Order: sequence, then C-alpha cells, then structure tokens
Amino acid sequence: MGISEFALIERYFRHSGARRSDVRLGVGDDAALLESPPGSELVAAIDTLVEGVHFPVGSRAASIGHRALAVNLSDLAAMGARPAWALLALTLPSADEGWLEEFAAGFSQLARAHQVALVGGDTTSGPLCISVQVLGHVPRGTAMLRAGGKPGDALFVSGTPGDAAAGLALEQGRLTASDEVSARLRERFLFPTPRVALGERLRQFASGCIDVSDGLLGDAGKLSSASGCGVQIDYPHVPVSEQLVSAVGEVRARELALTGGDDYELCFSVRPENVHKLHAELPPGQWGYRRIGVLVESPGSTVLSADSAVMHFSHSGFDHFA
Ligand code: ADP
Ligand code: MG
Repeated sequence: MGISEFALIERYFRHSGARRSDVRLGVGDDAALLESPPGSELVAAIDTLVEGVHFPVGSRAASIGHRALAVNLSDLAAMGARPAWALLALTLPSADEGWLEEFAAGFSQLARAHQVALVGGDTTSGPLCISVQVLGHVPRGTAMLRAGGKPGDALFVSGTPGDAAAGLALEQGRLTASDEVSARLRERFLFPTPRVALGERLRQFASGCIDVSDGLLGDAGKLSSASGCGVQIDYPHVPVSEQLVSAVGEVRARELALTGGDDYELCFSVRPENVHKLHAELPPGQWGYRRIGVLVESPGSTVLSADSAVMHFSHSGFDHFA
C-alpha cells in the first residue's frame, strides 16, 4: 500500500460519519466504548459486499461506500431501530487515495444523514471486500420481527421495487433506456435509500416487517413463513415506477417488482384494525408505501391477477435480461 495503514485510517476514517456524545471512545484505541440509552435494546446487523458478487467490478467508489452502509441501515430499519454506530472492515487490493476519498465520502454522507458515527473497524489488504456492522437501539420489547404477522394482516411495501434490478441491468449493459430513465434507475441501484424513518414510525403499527433485499415475493414469503402463515399478493397493486415501465414495459416491470433484488424497501404487515390509524398517521402518499396483499392461513406465496387467477413467478428476476 502507498499510504500507511495508520495514515489511511487517520485520514479517511477517524472522523467519518456523525459526531455523537454517546461515543466515549471511537476510532484509535483497541476497541470502542459506547453508551446505550437506558431502557433500550441494542440492535446489531452486519453485511458484506464482495466485488464482482454484490456490485460490478469497477463500480464507483462513492456508490460502494454508500451501499455498504445502506444495506445495514435497511436491516435496522426493518427492526424499527434507530441507528447509532457503525464499524467498517475494509479489504483493499491497494491504497488508491482517489478511490478511498470517494468511498469515504459516499459512506460518510449517508452516515451523517442518519446520525451514525463510525467508531471502529479493520483495514487489510486483499481482494476488494467491505463489511459494515451497524448498531442501533429500540425501546425494550418494541422491535418489529418477521415473526409477528397473523393471517388477515394487511401487507404493504414501500417505494417502487424492481427499480434497482433494472438499474443494475443498465449498469451492466444488459438493458438500455433513455438517458433520463437510465439515470434514475441506476441511481436506485447505486444509491439505495434505507427507510430508516419509516421503520421507526412503523413500530407503532406493524405486526411484522422485513427489508426487501432479495426480491419482494421471496422476502414477503420469508415474513409470512416466519409468522407461521402464507401470503397473497395482488398483482395489480404491486407498485411500479414510471421509469421502470418505460424501460421494460408494464408486464416485465411488475415481474421485476416481484422478483428483482437490491431495493432495500420495507415490506410490513399490519393488523386490519390498525390499518386506518396507519393511514391517518403516516399518509401513504407522503411516506411512499402501498398495500399489496394480505397474510393468509395456508402456507406459501401466491400472486393473484386482477380476475383472481393464481399467477406463477420464478424467484429470480435476473434471467429476464439474459
Ligand atoms: P488493532 O490492531 O488493535 O485491532 P488497528 O490498528 O487495526 O487496531 O486499528 C486501530 C484503530 O483504527 C482501531 O480503533 C480500529 O477500530 C480503527 N480502524 C481500523 N480500520 C478502520 C476502518 N477501516 N474504519 C474505521 N476504523 C478503523
Ligand atoms: Mg488491538
């Protein structure tokens, strides 16, 4: 490495992210000392991004920095937690300062937006790989679990799933679209928005919650099976963005919305008697979510067409551009 490991940490990571008074000791010692608020539970998540597996080789460093944190913030959002601290394990083929500058900026910008302090990590040399661990809090006993759903609960999703899968296909040249549409969809893959504020507010209303990272249909299925029930999704209610429809057409757009990955939206269930309150307190138009179906007694996932016929989908949206 050109720059020393010590100088690298000092320059790019010692002051990354937000400053927080609950960080007694951050980057610089053998470990961080952190103070949790009284009456809270600590919520922890970790995710690893490997070059060529989780992002294309040669991706923009700012996007890699953003995504490495965003995917973890999304996991905390799904629990209804408020994020506080992050640790970053970085494996780099070389210490390219231009790359590090951009990576740290992408990471730090998102961290500051969510008041997350970078409190430690590890730096090693090897094939490009980034692990981020995020720690946050929920008031004791209030976290949203996948297992909290019940038959009859209404099912919702935030945002417009499928955009990120199309964005990745555009990045990789497997799909083409107009400049404007392409820019918007790529942005959804490169800089996903973890739904942290929505997750926190949903603690009051949702019976179950999961973040959509591997495709809505599969992840809704995980929520329902953890809840010991099944799920029924109404095909016409699956939200799709204008841009996605313009890039791939209406039919493929819904297919991608159900099976594409990397969206980092929230899929959540709400008891029927709480739906009214949810809509009143978090207006769907303002908070960007939509009702897409219902949890049902019989296990498994079904998608119903407008005339209530059962539709069949493979769980991988990937092949559609092959
Ligand atoms: P040790 O050998 O005791 O584990 P290191 O020399 O690896 O310590 O790290 C020194 C300090 O820098 C520690 O506080 C560690 O958490 C922090 N650190 C190392 N790499 C990173 C990184 N990529 N991002 C943030 N902090 C880091
Ligand atoms: Mg040590």
